[in-house]
Amino acid sequence: MEESHGLLIVLSGPSGAGKGTLCRELLCQMPDLRYSVSMTTRSPRPGEVEGVHYYFRTRNEFESMLASNELLESAEFCDNYYGTPIFAVEQAIQAGLDVILEIEIQGALQIKKRFPQGIFTFIVPPSLDVLSERIHKRGTETEEVIQKRLATAIQELEYVSEYDYVVINDEVPVAVNKLKSILIAEKCRVKRKPFVFKGESR
Ligand code: 5GP
Repeated sequence: MEESHGLLIVLSGPSGAGKGTLCRELLCQMPDLRYSVSMTTRSPRPGEVEGVHYYFRTRNEFESMLASNELLESAEFCDNYYGTPIFAVEQAIQAGLDVILEIEIQGALQIKKRFPQGIFTFIVPPSLDVLSERIHKRGTETEEVIQKRLATAIQELEYVSEYDYVVINDEVPVAVNKLKSILIAEKCRVKRKPFVFKGESR
């Protein structure tokens, strides 16, 4: 049986749940998987590289991409815009590669409307205490931003039921194996719907 197009995997979960670490591990272990580099208006953290971690843009630049429908989804998160450029995702999936998006919930819900055949997976931390500890340890945000992110995290946890899968990120290798199993199972589906994005992102 011929596989014509790749899978779209959406990974969401509170900031500090460990989505980034899981994504990196998964990308190392799954050669046909590509990471969708998002666009953001937030400033780069130390070590973040333009075009690798994000495309860092001004609010004006972001808004003009939005207006010309070049984003698959977009959201405002803790006072910054984030969005997924549509072009690279479309190109990779059409070429038969799988694409992983690490995005927050508002964006994931937009994609669910436009592309319900995506695989929607929610990553949760083992507890809120662990989440707080992880964000503090990262040391990249001010206390005010940390508190805002923790408050957002509590709201975000209410959306788990919108997702197809939930993975608790306690031990990274265990969580990565669960994600791999999800992808492998999804690839074995007898019926896969055709690859078409419906309508516009907003
Ligand atoms: P951070 O500032 O910590 O890199 O990301 C903040 C939140 O924005 C995280 O939950 C991250 O997954 C999410 N995010 C990153 N890129 C995108 C994107 O393209 N679209 C949306 N909707 N959320 C994103």
